[in-house]
Amino acid sequence: MSPSAEDYYAILEVGRNATPDEIKKAYRKLAMKYHPDRNPGDKEAEEKFKTISVAYEVLSDETKRRQYDQLGHDMYTKGGRGGMGGMNAEDIFSQAFGGDFFSNLFGGGGGGRRSPNAPEKGDDLLYELQIDFEDAMFGVDRKIDIPRSETCGACQGSGCEPGTAKHTCPQCNGRGQVTMSQGFFSIRQPCSYCQGSGSVIEKPCHACQGQGTVRRRKTLTVHIPAGVDSGSRLRLAGEGEAGLRGGPTGDLYVRIHVRQHDIFSREEQDLHCDVPIPFHVAALGGTIEVPTINGKAELTIPAGIQSGTELRLKGRGVPPLAKGRPRGDQYVKVVVEVPTNLTRDQKEKLKAFADACSDNVHPRLKAFIEKAKRFFK
Ligand SMILES: [Zn+2]
Ligand SMILES: [Zn+2]
Repeated sequence: MSPSAEDYYAILEVGRNATPDEIKKAYRKLAMKYHPDRNPGDKEAEEKFKTISVAYEVLSDETKRRQYDQLGHDMYTKGGRGGMGGMNAEDIFSQAFGGDFFSNLFGGGGGGRRSPNAPEKGDDLLYELQIDFEDAMFGVDRKIDIPRSETCGACQGSGCEPGTAKHTCPQCNGRGQVTMSQGFFSIRQPCSYCQGSGSVIEKPCHACQGQGTVRRRKTLTVHIPAGVDSGSRLRLAGEGEAGLRGGPTGDLYVRIHVRQHDIFSREEQDLHCDVPIPFHVAALGGTIEVPTINGKAELTIPAGIQSGTELRLKGRGVPPLAKGRPRGDQYVKVVVEVPTNLTRDQKEKLKAFADACSDNVHPRLKAFIEKAKRFFK
């Protein structure tokens, strides 16, 4: 496809306040000029013809034009230009609220142009949900508030005021398409009177203005299982947008974002944390208490442990999402803290200790000096 050019109004060479009639005239003029029949083999004209057709598709439709005006060109055209008829600007409209992020997923319809009368599955929705690290470990129920379309209860989705019905479109006699003859070629396009559906609503439903759906905010409780990670996606079947013309409701996806923890980090099913230990504990060994996600645990420090050594607490990691899988482990990285702020007395004792040391106390240093000797000459 050609780059989406600047702006649909500019493409049709009309002002932003152009009337539907002016838009139609401008489109016809350009369509005549760039029609492939008139420019055989001219790729540039063909692209131009496609571009103006897309622009007209949007600006000739009152609803789409309003959404296009609200969102601006980039937002409106973002998110797949494949099926120009199947795209609804609301699909790509997303809004942030309450720290979470909410949007539609597009392309759920399986692509291709659908018949204007066929039932259509409602769009899937995507809700971006932030949760705390510990909630991801233990699972949590979270209430979320989603704006979505629901089938209008007053007209059961038909769009007709109760007691009235749809009529065959008088403009296209129910075909949904009209053919405009322009000299030696003709352009077929969706009937603008009935939006291509072939029928018109006699009296629009008072509750939904004939749309068949109404927008509502709904509060849902989402059960988040223990063990979820950032990027985990939960599917709530049938909680998306209402279908059209009796089509099934779309699904709601909740994508999890786990906040960072001040002690633990996660790697697959394992948890990692750093624990500082005093220098004398590292030298003498001992038992220390360390935090785990389920409370404290005792950890044995072997005498002579070096800074950076990782000790494993088996089965103290992330609980498995799927039943029957093993739980991960926790790795404690020992960080030996060199004593600071020493008193005179402490310094003297440390010096006495140093004097008492033989070079067997520091085998790594001893080996290093052996290797580095030739540089010290
Ligand atoms: Zn209604
Ligand atoms: Zn019609």
